[in-house]
Amino acid sequence: MRRGRFAPTPSGPMHIGNAFTALLAWLQMRHASGTFVLRIEDIDGPRSRPGYTQLIVEDLTWMGLDWDEGPATGGPFGPYLQSQRLELYEQAVRCLQRSGQLYPCYCSRAELAASAPHGLASEGAVYPGLCKALSEEERRRKAQLKPPSLRVAIPERSFSFEDGMAGIQHVPPGALGDFVVKRADGQFSYQLAVVVDDAAMGITDVLRGADLLDSTPRQLVLYELLETPPPSFCHVPLLCGPEGGRLSKRDRSLSLATLRTAGIPPERLIGHLAYAAGLLHRPEPVKATELVPLFTLERLSGERIALSRETLGLLTDSA
Ligand code: GLU
Repeated sequence: MRRGRFAPTPSGPMHIGNAFTALLAWLQMRHASGTFVLRIEDIDGPRSRPGYTQLIVEDLTWMGLDWDEGPATGGPFGPYLQSQRLELYEQAVRCLQRSGQLYPCYCSRAELAASAPHGLASEGAVYPGLCKALSEEERRRKAQLKPPSLRVAIPERSFSFEDGMAGIQHVPPGALGDFVVKRADGQFSYQLAVVVDDAAMGITDVLRGADLLDSTPRQLVLYELLETPPPSFCHVPLLCGPEGGRLSKRDRSLSLATLRTAGIPPERLIGHLAYAAGLLHRPEPVKATELVPLFTLERLSGERIALSRETLGLLTDSA
């Protein structure tokens, strides 16, 4: 039985880009008669707010999406809020520590910014390995000054994987960098938590936005080190504005809550999203359930899908 999930971070209201991913992940599982899981990724303390979790539940329900397992629904692999699963992440950290895959890192942001060629602007910045070769004595000395973060020592080799949408991906040796699995303040990283949860929840299919394609090889390394089989991955294109750039601030603020309160029927949004995904020939109003038999990813391609001005306009004009 296939198992898929939608795993939002409740750090803001859902916008049409999140709705697009949620719809496709839901359709993939409903089309396959699989199980669909809602997991709330709320371990990023200051960014996550409980109020947004409630809003996500309301938005998904308004769209006509449902889930078999989730925070209020429950299920055999709960809890479905990451903030209630910290013990599992700690166990994974201990397991990686026992097998010698982690090392403590005492670098400050300032030190990293000075030594990493591209600074720390993105998660992709490669850690230059400063703390990897510290002697026990140096570690003891530094440990007296501050608590360390824990980094995973990535094996020095290339990695390859096949993405359901983006095809075969090659990552040359050294490109991933030794990333953090637990921060100095005790917070577990997204990369660790998502792997522990997808594995523990028996997820077979991860369908999510192309912005996370870069994270996938890091996650595959963790699956390997934790000796757990990985799911299959499919990264769908991101929605973007008419000129192919990011959605403008105004369009990005097109939250589902705004559409709902403006009286836009959910079928109108679903119709536009399905048209953008190549499931419909015209952006006509449709219920999510009507798309289940039509689901395919074959007509999707590229990293971005430009939404027309007409679409953005129609979504903002009230019914
Ligand atoms: N929580 C992540 C986000 O909202 C998504 C995680 C995932 O799908 O792997 O961006």
